[in-house]
Order: sequence, then structure tokens, then C-alpha cells
Amino acid sequence: MTEMSYLDGNMLDGPLRELLAVDLSAATGRCASCGMVGPMAGLRVYAHAPGLVGRCPACAEVMLRLVRAPDRAWLDLRGATYLQVPVPPTGPPSLR
Ligand SMILES: [Zn+2]
Repeated sequence: MTEMSYLDGNMLDGPLRELLAVDLSAATGRCASCGMVGPMAGLRVYAHAPGLVGRCPACAEVMLRLVRAPDRAWLDLRGATYLQVPVPPTGPPSLR
């Protein structure tokens, strides 16, 4: 059996920092429940829970939970199949 090579999870720091440092209201998300694709700014956000709860405007299922403590935060995106985040183009101008 051959073992596939892998990198330490620390290498994700740079790529994830690029994504997580953007304005998420500009991101597009897909609801894991009904499949609707739309702007995260279109979520219905309920702030009277232990944290923020973002629900799909089409089916009302939870797509996002954000809980903030004084020294840490928890972001639960299991209700979203993906987030599409606009990032600056990379590579040679001919490939953009
Ligand atoms: Zn939905």
C-alpha cells in the first residue's frame, strides 16, 4: 500500500486567510437543504439566539451560525453546500 503525501494543515493559513478576510456579504451561497443559490446578504438573520443564525430565504433552513465569545468565535456553515467568494484575479493577464 502506498501512502499519499500530504501537507500539514498549517499550509491552509494563507489560502483561507484570503477567503475569510473578505466581505462575506458579497459571497454567494448554496443552501444544503433546498439548493437555492443566492447572496449571503439575502439570508434572514436572527440575532436573538445565542449568536447569529442565518436562514435560507427560500426554505427557512439554517445555513449559517456564528457564535462570538470574548476570545474566540465559532462559524458553522454545515447548512451551506458552498460559499463562492469573489477574490482578486491571479496569474498572467492573458489567463484572466
Ligand atoms: Zn433553502
